[in-house]
Amino acid sequence: MRKKIVAGNWKMNLDYNEGLALFSEVINMVKDEATGNQQVVVCSPFIHLHSLAALAKGYANVAVGAQNAHQAEAGAYTGEISAKQVKSTGAEYVILGHSERRQYFGESNELLAKKTDTALANGLKPIFCIGETLAEREANTHFGIIKSQLEEGVFHLSAEAFGTIVLAYEPVWAIGTGVTATSAQAQEIHEFIRKEIAAKYSQEVADATTILYGGSCNAKNAAELFAQADIDGGLIGGASLKSRDFTDIVKAFN
Ligand code: PEP
Repeated sequence: MRKKIVAGNWKMNLDYNEGLALFSEVINMVKDEATGNQQVVVCSPFIHLHSLAALAKGYANVAVGAQNAHQAEAGAYTGEISAKQVKSTGAEYVILGHSERRQYFGESNELLAKKTDTALANGLKPIFCIGETLAEREANTHFGIIKSQLEEGVFHLSAEAFGTIVLAYEPVWAIGTGVTATSAQAQEIHEFIRKEIAAKYSQEVADATTILYGGSCNAKNAAELFAQADIDGGLIGGASLKSRDFTDIVKAFN
């Protein structure tokens, strides 16, 4: 049975103490909510990772992730953080290909394929984001865009390596806008993604892949989204910054 995940993406919010306080609250509130194959992941700024990973120890269903990692193993890249460094904090996951990285930092599918390889080589599990812009949806090119993001970003992986990644469908027009994809729109794309994985690898690999939805997911719409056959949880931005809102989304698992 594939893993169900609710992952928070704090983005560039919360100072060190604020992050620790929020995570402590989150652990207390979600520790009995996520059970079995359900997992809660908090993707924080780098400065929090080591402390959050220490707090998460002992809670099998709570893990920590970064929001980015460099494609090189190490070297003269002032200000950057390597996958090995992220891993050494105790973090388990790393978000790659978030639309804000693609848009503001020019991250291409080709670069993201390298980042994915380096993350995997260092034992991190990528949460790999894909999704179309509003213009692409309006031009009816969204299926093609998602297909090429998969083909160029992650379909070079072996079936075994692919088995360790999590995908997140995040329509760019729904991120931070308050506009959510309808559950039918999201399910349509998730089903498409799963079919593409089955065609590339196998039905078994497709059935085992966790595919999250992200984009203005909140306590009100999470249950309906998570009830869709191919939606295995969510990647949550704004609503992950309040322990009550985030916990209510985690509760939507059940
Ligand atoms: C995100 O940044 O991954 C995201 C989904 O943001 P929000 O929930 O705020 O739309």
